[in-house]
Formats: sequence, structure tokens, C-alpha cells
Amino acid sequence: MRHSRPLYCYPGSVLDFSSLKCLANRNDALMSPTDLPVLNFDNTFARDLEGFFVPWDAAKSPKPELLMWNDALASELGPVFAALKPNEIVDIFSGNSVPDGAFPLAQAYAGHQFGGFSPQLGDGRALLLGEVVDTAGRRRDIQLKGSGRTPFSRGGDGKAPLGPVLREYLIGEAMHALGVPTTRALAAIATGEPVYREGALPGALLTRVAASHLRVGTFQFFAARQETDKVRQLADYAIARHYPELKERDQPYLAFFEAVLQAQAKLVAQWMQIGFIHGVMNTDNTTISGETIDYGPCAFMNIYVPDTVFSSIDTQGRYAYKNQPLIAQWNLARLAEALIGLVDPEPEKAVQLLTNLIEGFPEVYTEHWLSGMRKKIGLIKDDVGDLELVNDLLSAMEGQNVDYTLAMRRLSSAVRGDDQPLCALFSDRSDIESWLKRWRERLAQEKVMDEERGMAMDAVNPIYIPRNHMVEAALSSAVASEDFAPFKKLLDVLRHPYRERDGLEHYAQADPSDGAHYQTFCGT
Ligand code: AMP
Ligand code: MG
Repeated sequence: MRHSRPLYCYPGSVLDFSSLKCLANRNDALMSPTDLPVLNFDNTFARDLEGFFVPWDAAKSPKPELLMWNDALASELGPVFAALKPNEIVDIFSGNSVPDGAFPLAQAYAGHQFGGFSPQLGDGRALLLGEVVDTAGRRRDIQLKGSGRTPFSRGGDGKAPLGPVLREYLIGEAMHALGVPTTRALAAIATGEPVYREGALPGALLTRVAASHLRVGTFQFFAARQETDKVRQLADYAIARHYPELKERDQPYLAFFEAVLQAQAKLVAQWMQIGFIHGVMNTDNTTISGETIDYGPCAFMNIYVPDTVFSSIDTQGRYAYKNQPLIAQWNLARLAEALIGLVDPEPEKAVQLLTNLIEGFPEVYTEHWLSGMRKKIGLIKDDVGDLELVNDLLSAMEGQNVDYTLAMRRLSSAVRGDDQPLCALFSDRSDIESWLKRWRERLAQEKVMDEERGMAMDAVNPIYIPRNHMVEAALSSAVASEDFAPFKKLLDVLRHPYRERDGLEHYAQADPSDGAHYQTFCGT
């Protein structure tokens, strides 16, 4: 059964977010139960956080069609999800029917976008359907993206074009396979309706699964309105959901901030290790859980150039590859600001405590990053010279038109005795050759068989990543020619990014055009 809730009024011409519950486009009391299976929803957000969202129903899709369904993820969500029939999947995840137990709602959040604060963003084209406790006991949000206008839509149409939906599906699944915390894609459904951007494009919905959709911006929304009680309520909810062990701590809110900082430091370190550029690291796209969220203009770096920016709208290079750790720290400082009122009754003291943690970010980040980079170059133990050794490898790549992913992967050939595949990537080999000498001296400090070391390196240096030219080819074939075979094949290849397989050489190759001038666009 759906929760019974008070009757809500329809939005008036002026949206007043001081009382979010006054805005709703549905009346539960009048809704009849559907014939759909009862999904194992358990909606704590809707239950515990009244006033943090607007109950809302999705726009109807005129001619929905199932494009993609993630069987493995459906099984994780439970037997009822795994047993859904195609017509039920289409009905539920097109937004056309609300299954019993779901409680669709649009969440309120704010955010700093490219450094400027927007006090009110919110789910303008997404709806949380509900939460599911999966077979491993993890609570997960099920969200529709591209589900139509909500009171948070501002000028937008609330819709999503097929290309960006497939892109988020593919890159999110690739990131998961790479071992990076991320939201996942459960379904992609065509709506059968055009959306209008530069021209008419096929419309679609993505079903996104996340540890939660709590963002730095969710805290900012209530902090900006000086609703400290709500910030506390939200923090209590976030602690219970993501960091329950912190509840009993002397300073739970400070510990909470530190936990988010750790999670973000670890996440961004992983991005940097695989050459991932998020592209739009606004505070509304920074999760409390530490999962990557919102695959809009993201892309993987091709040749190693730390200044790389792919996003067409990032004209200043704010979210360039090399800036990502700094931006994570900046975003965390915005979360800290929102938590000041909770950390200590004396604001100066709260600021001091939080500042200490923020100032420690570079060290925390570097530790996570270096420990991953050590593994990538085949080291097992720590040594004081390792940071310099890793940095010198990256410096050797700079200005050499060297494909980052291939260079890291080919280090394992060098460990097995063949430097040629790696050195062939460099036009001037002098720096890499002298680096290889130093590296071998360092490797000699650890007694490990070459083959064993090579295998350990191959397990952390991907051979297949979503290369931009391959992603574009797969998307254009799906969108322009309705041929999903290249998309499905690429998705399949990316499900095992570390295991080299015969016949897939093509997927491991660098962009023939070097990809330096590749451009991505916001998926709106
Ligand atoms: P994003 O760029 O996807 O992180 O979204 C930033 C903000 O813009 C969020 O509040 C979104 O809900 C909103 N937004 C993005 N695209 C649309 C759209 N097509 N219609 C309405 N709101 C949108
Ligand atoms: Mg976003």
C-alpha cells in the first residue's frame, strides 16, 4: 500500500518553497492501486523528511519502449525486481504507473554551480520513486530521470534526450566495473516523444540507482534559509543512512563531515587514477555517500594533459582534470559552512574545527591517491620516495602525446621484461627510459615474481575504458540509426575493464585523432 498522506494543494502561480508540502501534483487518496507487482520499497526519505521534498508524479510517456534493462542490478535489488516482465518494466520506469509502495517525490536542493550559488535547484527533471533494501542489506534509491516538469524545473522541460540517457547508462556502468563508487543504471526507456534542444531529439528516461541522492547542495538548501533544525534533521538522517557508526560519537556532526571528506577524497583519487574527468563538479553533484553522480559532460582523458577540459561550457577550465582534488576540497568547504550551526554553539569554534579538517584534505587525498598509484606501478610496500617516483612518471608523459591509459597498462609489459610497448608511446624516450631505471631499482626492494607483479598491475590498470570516440560512435548509432548493437557491445566490453580478451584490440586503442579537442555537452 502507498502511504496515506494529507491532501496536498496544487502549486499556485507563485512557488513558495517555505512550505514544500503545499506543492504536489497528485492526491494519493484518489489514486487507485495498480495491478503491478509490489516492489520491496521502504521509503525513509519520504517518511522522515517531510518538508524536504515535493510529492510529485511523473509525466506520462505516450509510447514507451524498453531500450535497456540491467538484469544483474535488478537481481541485486531483489527477486521482485528480477522477476519484472518487460511490460511491467516499461509501465513502471516510464513513469506511466506508480507501483504500490512507491512514493514519487522531487527532492529540494541548492548548489554552487561553477562557483556561483543557486539557492534553489532541486529535482527539476527527476523523481525519487522510493528506496529498496537490496539483497546485501544496502538501502538504495530508485530514481527516474527525465520524468517531466516539477516545481523545481525553472525554465526546463523536465525531459531528457536519449543520447545523454544512454551516455549516463554506459559511463556509470563502466565506472562500476572499474571499481569506482557510482550511481548505477537500471533501465533506459524511450518515451516515444521528441524533446527539443538544438532540434528535435528522441526523448528517454533513465532509472538511476544510488546509495542516496543526498548532496552537499541538499544541506545548502536549508542552511541558506537558516533552517538549522532542518540541517540537523538532514544530518541525522544522513548519519543514520550512511555513517551509522558515528551516531554515538562526542561530536557526531564533525565526525560526519570528516567521513564525507574521506569518502570524497577517496572517490576523487580514484577518478584521477583512471583519468576520469567529471566535468561538472558543482556542489549539487557532490554526494554525501561518496558515489559519483550525474554523468553529463564527463569523459576520460586521452593523452596525458593535466589541463584537459572536455565540457563545452567550462570555458575557464574550473573542472579541468588537474583541478578535481582542489574542487572537491572547495565543495567540502561549502558543506562545512552548512554544518557550522551543528558543530558547536560558538560559531568561531565550529569554524575552527571544520577548517582544521578542510585544511587536512590535501594530505588525506594524497594518501588515497598515492596508495592507488603505488599499486598501478606495481609496488606493494610504502617508501618515502614513492610520491616523487609517481610524479616523475606523470611528468615524463607530459608534452609527449602519450595515451594515459595505455601507458599505465603497458607498464606491466615492462615488468615482464619488454619496455618496447610502453616506450613506443613516447616520441622522445629519454625521460621514460631514465625513469624505468629508477623504477626497477625501487621494484628490486620488493621480492615479487615478475608475472605475479604484472598480474597485480593488470588488475588495477584498465585495458578498456569508455574511450570518447567509441562512446560517440555507439551513441550516434543508437540515436541516429536506432541500432543498439554497438552500444550493447561496448557496454559488454566495459563490464570487464581489466581483463584483456582476444578480438577486442579495437576497443583498447587510443583515439586516432588523439582526442585532445574532444568536446562534451551538458546532458540537459
Ligand atoms: P544537472 O546539470 O543535471 O546536474 O542539473 C542541474 C539542475 O538543473 C537541477 O536542478 C536539475 O533538476 C535542473 N535541470 C537540468 N535539466 C533540466 C531539464 N531538462 N528540465 C528541468 N530542470 C532541469
Ligand atoms: Mg545534478
